[in-house]
Amino acid sequence: MRILIAGAGIAGLAAALALARKGHEVQLIEQAAALEEVGAGLQLGPNAMRVLDALGVGGAVAAAGQVPAAITMRDGRSAREILKIPLGDAARRRWGAAYMTAHRADLVAILADALKRAQPGSLRTGVMLTTLDNRPDRVAVTTQTGETLAADLLIGADGIRSVVRRQLFGEDAARFTGHVAWRALIRVDKADPVAPPAGVGAWIGPRRHAVTYRIRPDLVNLVAVTEQADWREEGWNLPGDIDRLRAEFAGWGTISRLLDRVEAPLRWGLHDRKPMRAWHRDRTVLIGDACHPMLPFLAQGAAMGIEDGFALAQLLPPDGADAEPALTRFFALRQPRTARVQAMARSNGVDFHEGNPLANLAMRLPLGRAAAVRPDAVLARWDWLYGGGPLASASGKLA
Ligand SMILES: Cc1cc2nc3c(=O)[nH]c(=O)nc-3n(C[C@H](O)[C@H](O)[C@H](O)COP(=O)(O)OP(=O)(O)OC[C@H]3O[C@@H](n4cnc5c(N)ncnc54)[C@H](O)[C@@H]3O)c2cc1C
Repeated sequence: MRILIAGAGIAGLAAALALARKGHEVQLIEQAAALEEVGAGLQLGPNAMRVLDALGVGGAVAAAGQVPAAITMRDGRSAREILKIPLGDAARRRWGAAYMTAHRADLVAILADALKRAQPGSLRTGVMLTTLDNRPDRVAVTTQTGETLAADLLIGADGIRSVVRRQLFGEDAARFTGHVAWRALIRVDKADPVAPPAGVGAWIGPRRHAVTYRIRPDLVNLVAVTEQADWREEGWNLPGDIDRLRAEFAGWGTISRLLDRVEAPLRWGLHDRKPMRAWHRDRTVLIGDACHPMLPFLAQGAAMGIEDGFALAQLLPPDGADAEPALTRFFALRQPRTARVQAMARSNGVDFHEGNPLANLAMRLPLGRAAAVRPDAVLARWDWLYGGGPLASASGKLA
């Protein structure tokens, strides 16, 4: 098939690589002049890593990233442990791949390099899709320069503000959730007193929380989430007021010490959208944040985009004759899983910010002290997520 993909984010790159590996003729267009992910970290659950392994890039991602030994949730002020999910070897044994943390820029570069080798010349930057002409038997798009590109299938991987989605299904503004995420990368020396404990740390408290993890041995990724009534600003990576952020986390030991090292955090308002009833029409289909944007409180947005791209590539027929049954099956397989992740991410946002997080979490999560006694019971709760997705079964079949 001749397949055009709009958007070279993580979902678009993963889809392009998976489709190229299946022998399709891929053209990936990206509006930005160059592929550059603003510096930030990414957690990659075993569900995403199994797919990256199958795409032949798992080794490179593992070499670039870190393997946290556990996710530990702590009270932000007292640093008291609330619960611990063991990862490291336990994750690898249970779910067939490691739980990793990595620099987004590293993952993007690894996927783009692999695509370049699999199908040279398939990625074009500085090309923005503006309109599309979508018909039952073919699709054509126009770019900002007036160029027309025709294909058997168009994949809209153009993110939460997807132009493709708007043109397929009409205007539907994303909802501001009241959360603002602030991001910063902090360089730490070996015995740095500022360094947070190893592993992924979730630090919670009333109306705010923070997440810390290393993405390279000497680089800590910090995401701090605060609440705000409305969000009127345009833009994704707005400079944030560090004094305001420090005031929000005053008295939070580890987090406030890290913030003393931060000069210019970036911030953005978190938006989400209800699960959609369809992701495709005629010869165009959506993947990633374009069809299921989610809050980052389960660290699975990019992972779901990676799963989408891989699943779609396994389902599409080899030629352009009739893609409809494959697209219907794609939606039937992927929509319930992504909707579940969206819902869980939303409810985590509520739990993390509750006035009495300890009591709430103890009620909702059967974890707490059980983690120390029976780690398997803790891990079993995550089988559907980290053990699921397109490569769920041991046989490598779609699930
Ligand atoms: C604070 C925070 C932390 C997160 N942490 C994690 C995490 O730990 N793990 C995880 O899995 N997920 C995480 N996520 C979610 C993750 O970042 C997103 O879900 C993921 O990046 C979405 O990928 P995408 O490719 O669908 O969209 P995007 O990354 O938005 O990519 C869309 C691409 O399309 C391009 N584009 C847009 N319009 C056009 C057009 N008209 N023509 C051509 N190109 C176009 C854009 O320039 C962009 O490159 C986090 C999100 C946030 C906000």
